[in-house]
Parts: sequence; structure tokens; C-alpha cells
Amino acid sequence: MATEGPFPKLVAFDLDYTLWDLWIDTHVDGPLHRNGETVNQVLDRNNQPIRFYRDVPDILHTIRAWRIEDREEGDNKVVIAACSRTSAPALARQCLNLLLVPPPSHVSGEGVESKPVVAAKFFDEMEIYPGSKLTHFKKIHQRTGIPYEEMLFFDDERRNGEVEKLGVTFIHVPIGLNRKVFDDGVKHWRKKRSETA
Ligand SMILES: [Mg+2]
Repeated sequence: MATEGPFPKLVAFDLDYTLWDLWIDTHVDGPLHRNGETVNQVLDRNNQPIRFYRDVPDILHTIRAWRIEDREEGDNKVVIAACSRTSAPALARQCLNLLLVPPPSHVSGEGVESKPVVAAKFFDEMEIYPGSKLTHFKKIHQRTGIPYEEMLFFDDERRNGEVEKLGVTFIHVPIGLNRKVFDDGVKHWRKKRSETA
């Protein structure tokens, strides 16, 4: 499942209540900081922790290990995007720049990082600002040239499913991203793809 394709060319994630369990614009006071090299924890001004849901680090590593088969080496990675409509984009970016993603729990494959890496390094594309996510995806499409049908998107808010109008595969995340929701989402994308092929 994790290593055999086909894979979408882009996987996008909402942030609030999809990757972490808070609204960064209402529940968090900047500036943010991290205690040394503590993994998966950033603290706000009041020392309130912000961290990814438990399975998120391994999911990011899983996607990083995927390769698109019909592409040239060097251009065959799956693009990872953050798509958030938060009204605190600077705080969200600061968090992604501080939050350390631990190495994969099941180390396998070449090129797998063995040291923690800041979350921002995983996100090739970041569209973080208020408003309809139709805009977020149109911008990503313009910049990357990736067809909407090759995009898989996880979000906890059903209203953001409007991006399906563009052709993006939308997966509703009820209580934060976990491995099962992720794997089922990939399966759903594959099924859709095989039906339209
Ligand atoms: Mg959300």
C-alpha cells in the first residue's frame, strides 16, 4: 500500500484540525518557540503546545518515499502542499518552520532521513490565507501545472470539498488525520482514477 503506485502527483493537507488539533488563529498566541531539539512540539507564548497528530510524521515520510513512474528522475517526487484558510498565515508558517518532524518510525528505503527535519521542508507548496480554497488550488495548479485529477486533498471541513468542482479528490477528515483515513483516501483516489481512465 505505502510503496506501490499509482500515486497522485500532489497531496495537499489543511492545517487546523487536519494536521494539528487547534485553530492557529484563535487558540495560539505568538511568538512561537521550541525547546531545543524537541520533536513534534512547538510552544506558544503561554507555553501551550502545538503538535501534529500522532500519525502525521510517518504519513509525510510515506509520501516523500513515493515516486511517480512516468517522470524523469529528479522530477518524480510527489508534491506535498499545505492549504489553509487561516487568518494567521504568518503564525502558521512560523509553526511549520519550527516544528521538528521525527525520523520515520519504520526506517526503510534509501534516502530516508534519520534526523528530525522541520515540517516546512516537507511542504513544497504553501497556500495559507483566508478565503475559498478554490483559489488555493487554482494557484497551485497554475504554478505546478499538475492536473486537478492528480491532486488528493485532506481537510476536516466539508465546505472545502467544493474543490471537487475543479476535479481534486477531496477526503473529509473527521477527527484529525490518521493512517487509516490517509490510506483510505489514497485508495479512493485510485478507484476514481481507474474509473475515469
Ligand atoms: Mg481545518
